[in-house]
Amino acid sequence: MTTRDDTKTRLDALRVEIERRNPAQPEFHQAVHEVLDTLAPVLAARPEYAEPGLIERLCEPERQVIFRVPWQDDQGRVHVNRGFRVEFNSALGPYKGGLRFHPSVNLGIIKFLGFEQIFKNALTGLGIGGGKGGSDFDPHGRSDAEIMRFCQSFMTELYRHIGEHTDVPAGDIGVGGREIGYLFGQYRRITNRWEAGVLTGKGAGWGGSAIRPEATGYGSVLFAAAMLRERGEDLEGQTAVVSGSGNVAIYTVEKLLALGANPLTCSDSSGYVVDDKGIDVELLKQVKEVERGRISEYAERRGASARFVPGGRVWEVPADVALPSATQNELDENDAAALVRNGVKAVAEGANMPTTPEAVHLFQRAGVAFGPGKAANAGGVAVSALEMAQNHARTAWSPAKVEEELAHIMSAIHTTCHETAERYGAPGDYVTGANIAGFERVADAMLAQGVI
Ligand code: NDP
Repeated sequence: MTTRDDTKTRLDALRVEIERRNPAQPEFHQAVHEVLDTLAPVLAARPEYAEPGLIERLCEPERQVIFRVPWQDDQGRVHVNRGFRVEFNSALGPYKGGLRFHPSVNLGIIKFLGFEQIFKNALTGLGIGGGKGGSDFDPHGRSDAEIMRFCQSFMTELYRHIGEHTDVPAGDIGVGGREIGYLFGQYRRITNRWEAGVLTGKGAGWGGSAIRPEATGYGSVLFAAAMLRERGEDLEGQTAVVSGSGNVAIYTVEKLLALGANPLTCSDSSGYVVDDKGIDVELLKQVKEVERGRISEYAERRGASARFVPGGRVWEVPADVALPSATQNELDENDAAALVRNGVKAVAEGANMPTTPEAVHLFQRAGVAFGPGKAANAGGVAVSALEMAQNHARTAWSPAKVEEELAHIMSAIHTTCHETAERYGAPGDYVTGANIAGFERVADAMLAQGVI
């Protein structure tokens, strides 16, 4: 019989081996450790999961593609970027996960995101596997024509590896509706196919789903509301700090306002704005989505209620709820201590792995409800899967129908995480609940499909 001690020894050895085989990939190590750290109870209770090779296979991508992306800027200069697509696990369906364009992108970051995506996608209950991709291309300050040429060059290699039944990318940092349009156009041109389901996040008039742009932000607010409800509290009337000012942050702010909460902040890599009257979401959209400006411009135009704090971190602003929605490791132990000191009740991760492990432990020790990204930000990929379903049926659902589905899926994810945590002796621990519930679904499919 396998004991918890045996399991722990095996998991510790596996962690060491994964670090050895994947050197210089700290974000990937962090994401793997965070999952392995919570699996011991399920491996001890369900011996079939302790079968040699299962977890080893789960931690090794099925396929990793790295390619050159040459492109010309508006002055005719040639630039060479690196493109990635990590197809991590397809036991539950076609690989599914976004593309990130940001100068920090490297293989380890794409692997961490792809690994997270496996469990997140499993939690949605839909038929999607896990993958992720992107490039170290920096879109900041580039013209539309430069973005288009880059996207066309990127797709000229990527098209070989994707398809509606194979691998279905979407957006992430630096990739929104504009980029998905250019990528889709080039895919259609190269393949001579109208294959709507090959990418999600498309425009509403040509195969995109209603509510896809809103889905990640809306979903993470719904998850925060569900965690508060579990504790007998209501989101209405609560103050919130939100980081980032991109796709996820904007629709987080919008949903907070719709539910009667008061979002006080948003940020970008240059600093943050705090608005005593609450963020004006229409002005935020104008500055960030329409004009592609900087967050400081919001404060300049908002008037006396708002100020820009250069280089600061939103976590120093007192609030009831925190929704980190920018990037990985943006909320550390000191930030968590400040939030706890100021009485934060719930944290829901809109971004992927924004909270460092030390900060997560601090929140949990302080009794703060903590919703990990795998669960809290799964609304985006869930509506992407609904977009695939609509594409398959050559139909388009109403915004009301998609929003109802999204609410249903987020509620089901919350219940699954909550109940799984209780079942494995960790009541209230959404990290354990999300990891084990996601793992169980993927592991069952992998075991049924044999050693591949
Ligand atoms: P966007 O590109 O739309 O916005 C990203 C925001 O985060 C910008 O305000 C950006 O500021 C800020 N940011 C990015 N990198 C950094 C950094 N290194 N330091 C400080 N600020 C930074 O991306 P999204 O809103 O789509 O994505 C945000 C997060 O949500 C990511 O973690 C992503 O993986 C996650 N996510 C996104 C989903 C989606 O549907 N889009 C789905 C699930 C998760 P600046 O412009 O100054 O760089």
